Amino acid sequence: MSQQQPTPADTAGGVRHDFLHDFLLDPARHSPGAPAVIESPQAGHTAVTTYAELTALVGEYAAGLHALGIEPGARVILEADTTAPAIAMLLACSRAGLTFVPVSPETPYRRLESIAETVRPALHLQELTGQRTDVRPPVGTARFGPDGLTVDRAPVRRPPRRGTPCVTDPAYIIFTSGTTGRPKGVVMSHRAVVAFYRGMLAHRIAGPEDRIASTSPLQFDFSLLNIGLALGSGASVVPVPPPLVRWPRHLLRVLRETGATQVNGVPSIWRQVLRHEPRRLAALDRLRGVLFCGEEFPLPELRRLQELLPAARIVNCYGATESMACSFEDVPSPLPESIERLSIGTAHPGAEMLLVDGTGAVIDAPGVVGEIHLRSPALFSGYWDDREATRATLVPDPLCPQSGQYVLRTGDLALRGPDGEFYFAGRIDSQVQINGNRVELAEVERRLTEHPGATAATAIPLPLPGGGQRLAAFVVPAAGGDLGDAGALREFCAQTLPPYMVPQEIRLLDRLPTTANGKVDRAALAAGAEPAA
Ligand code: ADP
Repeated sequence: MSQQQPTPADTAGGVRHDFLHDFLLDPARHSPGAPAVIESPQAGHTAVTTYAELTALVGEYAAGLHALGIEPGARVILEADTTAPAIAMLLACSRAGLTFVPVSPETPYRRLESIAETVRPALHLQELTGQRTDVRPPVGTARFGPDGLTVDRAPVRRPPRRGTPCVTDPAYIIFTSGTTGRPKGVVMSHRAVVAFYRGMLAHRIAGPEDRIASTSPLQFDFSLLNIGLALGSGASVVPVPPPLVRWPRHLLRVLRETGATQVNGVPSIWRQVLRHEPRRLAALDRLRGVLFCGEEFPLPELRRLQELLPAARIVNCYGATESMACSFEDVPSPLPESIERLSIGTAHPGAEMLLVDGTGAVIDAPGVVGEIHLRSPALFSGYWDDREATRATLVPDPLCPQSGQYVLRTGDLALRGPDGEFYFAGRIDSQVQINGNRVELAEVERRLTEHPGATAATAIPLPLPGGGQRLAAFVVPAAGGDLGDAGALREFCAQTLPPYMVPQEIRLLDRLPTTANGKVDRAALAAGAEPAA
């Protein structure tokens, strides 16, 4: 198939760089021979894909997709881990005017089916090694590999209803867990994702010499952040296959063999490494950056990470899938002992975080907790086919509701520091009632991790048989730390917390369960807890 065949986005003209693929493949950012993707899935095997090779693969895939006659704007399920071909394929979808929906090869069939019922894809794509066999017609199926696209079942050809691709078209849809249990499809336009990339790149977190290890599965937007950070900086992406992230030795092996200079992931990727492989971690002398996102980094673990990687720049990246992320703040090095909370800084250039109180008024005073509302050009367009949920999340700008401009209501609480910087203060829904008292779970967790023998903690409410809730906590002891028993930990909490905030039950765990994207799995903790007597 000719690589020169025009694809819809090629004919757009004018604003080329506001399409995802144009922005990331902009030749001005990188030299053709420079490594774009460095992989090391098995010990001793390192594969490099240069920018020229990646661009050629994108061209080949885009031409293959175009030849299938799929209507521009159609959805394509991209079932893959982060690999060089998968990165090429998502850029090819962008170039072919198709909206990609990344899903993991580990996605259970029922969930995949529910995503497919929601977005009605034209095509399901997987790598040559993909195991999925039960995709139902009329969805077309195809595989991609180093030699191009192989069609198993042709998708339905439809005459295009759209002519010129537009930067407000959906670039991708990412499905989040959704609090109701039904996954919500976050629709991101080319314009929004490129606006985000521009804001992120202004922080100069990476340069062309960097090799950025991405530990997040492709179906989470954190992986797209990493791909954008690497390609947007002319650096290389180092995808770490999800099964390897879970094993400290494998993770460290990939980092060593690929010469990774930066590791980006949720805080939990470090927990077992710090516990079991501190020396091997400290020996990674090329590592000079860590970016974390997704949840608070327990301070004892963060301090330990700084001790082991004293020269590393550690960046706290805050945000939600609905805006990709919105702030990047360097963690002070070393972290002062007096610090209780990490700053999430302020929004990236071109965006602004506001705090809003329960009456909808904007809070200006420092120290007052409010809900973060984000004014930004990098907001999602809406939840796919879910107007009600979209209306609840994209709300009129509290600064000027008359303007018709919408902002993202995040559901996150924060307060401002003396210099206008923001401090994350938990989710709105992490405020629970225990015996009629309002308890902020994050505050309980913070107190528990102040114990010198604790390294991480999670507090959750559990139901009481006769109604009401009790407070339970799960604590991970530091390696070699002395936590004492549950009674001693309760006493430790009672030194600073009111009695109703002292967990009635405290359990010690070697590891906290995590969700597929590596955040603490509170539902699993609750499900595994024994009912109260
Ligand atoms: P999910 O809802 O599946 O967790 P997201 O990845 O979009 O999906 O989660 C976004 C939420 O994660 C934010 O609204 C915030 O509550 C939390 N979060 C993200 N980054 C940080 C951070 N750096 N510090 C604290 N919390 C964070």
